[in-house]
Amino acid sequence: MRPAAHRLRRLAWTLLWLAALFALLAWAWGRPFMASPRMLWDVSRAPPPAMLPVPVDGVRAKQIADTFGAPRDADRTHQGVDIFATRGTPIRSATRGVVVAVRDSGLGGRQVWVLGPGRERHYYAHLDDWAPGLSTGQVIRAGDVLGFVGTSGNARGTPPHLHYGIYGAQGAYDPLPLFRAGAASTTVR
Ligand SMILES: [Zn+2]
Repeated sequence: MRPAAHRLRRLAWTLLWLAALFALLAWAWGRPFMASPRMLWDVSRAPPPAMLPVPVDGVRAKQIADTFGAPRDADRTHQGVDIFATRGTPIRSATRGVVVAVRDSGLGGRQVWVLGPGRERHYYAHLDDWAPGLSTGQVIRAGDVLGFVGTSGNARGTPPHLHYGIYGAQGAYDPLPLFRAGAASTTVR
């Protein structure tokens, strides 16, 4: 075989292998076991939300007190809002994302952290219980049930409520304007 034909043949094989490898990667990316990396990729590129639904069933934005930044104890301010509801009321994720922590610790008690659009972390605290089977790494759609309103952590002895906080690149910020924007855009159905 002449050298030129030989080189051409080797090039064709290389291209064929690359095409096969690319097809395999594309196939794997679409499989269910890659759902979590896909969502992480999605939310890391997406902008932070401009509006949000209230994450507790049956509660309207105007019912939520503006307590972000209010003094708490001697050295702490309120890093979120409290959404009061009957114990056991479903708590739904305000955004899509990936569950990055499910734990029972500290002031928040039973809590869930969801990494959402713009790489912001959404904090749901004082849960009575988590949604059955909820686990770290789970892909979440907006509206998926994360848990139920309760009084765990330092909410013990208070009326049941969800403490909800959003932590962006600059730290915690007030979710209430996003709820109000969400309420303003919602048409009556
Ligand atoms: Zn709170």
